[in-house]
Amino acid sequence: MSRLIRAVIEPRSLRHNLNTIRERARRARVMAVVKANAYGHGLVPTALALADADAFAVARLEEGLALRAAGITQPIVLLEGVFTSEQLLEAARHGFDLVVHDALQVELLEEMSGAHRFVLWIKIDTGMNRLGFPPREFAAALERVRRLKSAPLEIRLLTHLACADEPPEHMTNEQLRRFRETTRGLDYSVSIANSAGVFGSAQLNCDWVRPGLALYGASPFADRTAEQLGLDPVMSLESSVIALRSITAGETVGYGAAWKAAHDTRIAIIAAGYGDGLPRGLPTGTPVLIGGRHAPIVGRVSMDMIAVDVSAVPEVHVGTAVLLWGPGLPVEEIARHAGTIPYELLCSVSQRVPLELR
Ligand SMILES: *Cc1c(COP(=O)(O)O)cnc(C)c1O
Repeated sequence: MSRLIRAVIEPRSLRHNLNTIRERARRARVMAVVKANAYGHGLVPTALALADADAFAVARLEEGLALRAAGITQPIVLLEGVFTSEQLLEAARHGFDLVVHDALQVELLEEMSGAHRFVLWIKIDTGMNRLGFPPREFAAALERVRRLKSAPLEIRLLTHLACADEPPEHMTNEQLRRFRETTRGLDYSVSIANSAGVFGSAQLNCDWVRPGLALYGASPFADRTAEQLGLDPVMSLESSVIALRSITAGETVGYGAAWKAAHDTRIAIIAAGYGDGLPRGLPTGTPVLIGGRHAPIVGRVSMDMIAVDVSAVPEVHVGTAVLLWGPGLPVEEIARHAGTIPYELLCSVSQRVPLELR
């Protein structure tokens, strides 16, 4: 019998998705976003599979260090920059490119000892109100960065979109307008688009794009599937049946006796639970793929197990493989059942689930 639960990663799909993104954003360079353990897909194997990316982007210094330790030589962008002088020196030592989103980070650069020449991405807050210089503070920040004792190797500009994944486009258009107004007359490379931006308006695909979710083959849109975008799912979350029982009408299944059989039912117990990263809130009716058919989860998700009604799939036996999401059962669909987004499900796959490359 195969491993009870595992996340199988398909490197060919990663490369396919990168190519799809390149076709959408032909003139842009691609910064592959691999933060949060590559959205649960494994930081290093994902970066190795995406060797063609023009750069990698991570959220934290430690993620960048792990990439360098694995021999990754491409540019690595720290999307949140650094927060202490020690981190700044570490970033210099490992040749990381830095986002600068705050005056404190400019100060760190001004006070840095040594003469490292960074690629610096100055972040402009055009409406997300999370990180970045508000437009009225941008000119002063740029001036200080230009005057750094240790001149930047290159200055680039970025902003992040709040609503690229949903119509109407007022917010995105307003952010784009503010970005253009703030950067008018400047001749630096710019980056605006995340995954939703890449598949949104062509004006968002400027010098650099920053896709994360799309690389992993999931759609950021509620109304367009990954397949419609030309993306292939990269992760298959697979498990198998560890027990079967036949229950009679009126019996209940699982904790809280939360589900009651309306008629005689064949139940398969699957080795996958919230200890593996499935949301405990997955409701009855959420599908799994078993024996090539959709079958509904019934009752509560436990730590190590779920129960599935397989009355309509007679060939199921102990050991039958089960797909929790992957090709044929998009993670976006499971996310809708869970009342969340594919990002969260992918990032939540827990430590005890082995990652395997196909
Ligand atoms: C995470 C992140 C991205 C990638 O977003 P996706 O929606 O996954 O494509 C891009 N840019 C920044 C600044 C991010 O933090």
